[in-house]
Amino acid sequence: MSREYEIVIGLEVHAQLATESKIFCNCSTQFGAEPNQHTCPICLGLPGTLPVLNKKVVDYAIMAGLALNCTINGYSKFDRKNYFYPDLPKAYQISQNDFPICSDGFIEIDTEEGVKRIGINRIHMEEDAGKLVHEGSIDQATASLVDYNRTGIPLIEIVSEPDIRTPAEARAYLTQLKQILEYIGVSDCNMEEGSLRCDANVSIRPLGQKEFGTKTELKNMNSFRAVERALEYEVERQKKVLEEGGEVIQETRTWDDSLNKTISMRSKEEAADYRYFPDPDLPPLQVDKEWVERILASLPELPREKQERFVREYALPEYDAGVLTDSRPLADYFEACVAEYSDAKAVSNWIMGDFLRLLREENLEIEEVKMAPANLARMLQLMDKGVISSKIAKTVFEEMFKTGKDPEKIVEEKGLVQISDASQLEEIVLKVIEANPSAVEDVKNGKDRAIGFLVGQVMKETRGKANPGMVNQILKDKINSL
Ligand code: ADP
Ligand code: ZN
Ligand code: MG
Repeated sequence: MSREYEIVIGLEVHAQLATESKIFCNCSTQFGAEPNQHTCPICLGLPGTLPVLNKKVVDYAIMAGLALNCTINGYSKFDRKNYFYPDLPKAYQISQNDFPICSDGFIEIDTEEGVKRIGINRIHMEEDAGKLVHEGSIDQATASLVDYNRTGIPLIEIVSEPDIRTPAEARAYLTQLKQILEYIGVSDCNMEEGSLRCDANVSIRPLGQKEFGTKTELKNMNSFRAVERALEYEVERQKKVLEEGGEVIQETRTWDDSLNKTISMRSKEEAADYRYFPDPDLPPLQVDKEWVERILASLPELPREKQERFVREYALPEYDAGVLTDSRPLADYFEACVAEYSDAKAVSNWIMGDFLRLLREENLEIEEVKMAPANLARMLQLMDKGVISSKIAKTVFEEMFKTGKDPEKIVEEKGLVQISDASQLEEIVLKVIEANPSAVEDVKNGKDRAIGFLVGQVMKETRGKANPGMVNQILKDKINSL
């Protein structure tokens, strides 16, 4: 007896903040240092030390809250979350329990039924733990080493409401969240370096039932695609448990990417297990209106706003605007081009096409691109003036992209100037007509496609440099007068 179920998902995302120093000491947050180089008595949790809150962390948390439509709480406080683990030298993590800095926000995602709001319950600040490095194999560890460079790295945890209804929506939420955090620059969101981590809570309930079902919490997915797959797997697993008359138990499960399934890790700890209490070393945090306003004034344009503006200001299709505002550097690059060349749609076509293709092929970040936006503008002007054809422009573009050279220089060095000399073109056209009598016959019989073939032959003769408009005209004239 199979029943219909509704899926309920809530996500908890940890984002590492892009500050230069840690949250409670001035150790560096630089990634990739030799183990335990970025440590001091405070982040090692030595007795007698006192934490001092990094103001930049609060700035960033407020900024994230504003970008995610949250209320910024004037009063918040830090609490100790107590547990023992070798990567946590104090045996407690400083976090925010009942009074987080931000609450009640939302993210808008696009679904098939239109725009949907996913609520954000809270955003709180906390410190990261260290990292264990196991030597040997999983079943035969020879040693476990600990690296405390990561202890005290500032994090925000963004907790969604259980408003997500499909694994695909979960992925859309994460994509949107990452884009916003990158835009405002509070986190680099580098998943490989662990700057963005997601735990997914999921339950199912029979359609029409009011109460939520029992949830499981999924951990250790290292890409958004993995989050989606883990959720898909887990939903099926829970359905099967219920269909077989069993009960889903509240537990934490780990995603195994190679086995493609979730595996039970441990039964879920309750909040009470952590014995939260206010950290006596840190006073409650007061954030006044001026502070919030200062951050609000520094908040850059957000992705959705930018996309809407691109449609309005540059008369671009929604689709183009979406692609171009995917990241801030790409949007900035586009706008720098348009500042020099006002046909925005022409610029958009080159950026969405060859530019993004080459970026992918060469595996580059926008910041690493050698081609100056002004050069793309100048190449488009060369096309307008008829100096180069659109076909040659592709060659010029690729060369500019790879070398950063000026378009005029490339055209000159490679002898790419378009042939617009009528007598020179006539000569080539006559040669092509002579060599292709049957195509000429076809043209005479009204087969339009044959003319394209003949133009192609002229292009081949001139290695793409012939002015196509002129070639077309000359061909027609010559054939008509035959
Ligand atoms: P816990 O007390 O277990 O930490 P919370 O209520 O704090 O649970 O919620 C943690 C996350 O789990 C939130 O993102 C929330 O949206 C989500 N969540 C809560 N209940 C459910 C449920 N029944 N099914 C799916 N997700 C849930
Ligand atoms: Zn330190
Ligand atoms: Mg909770």
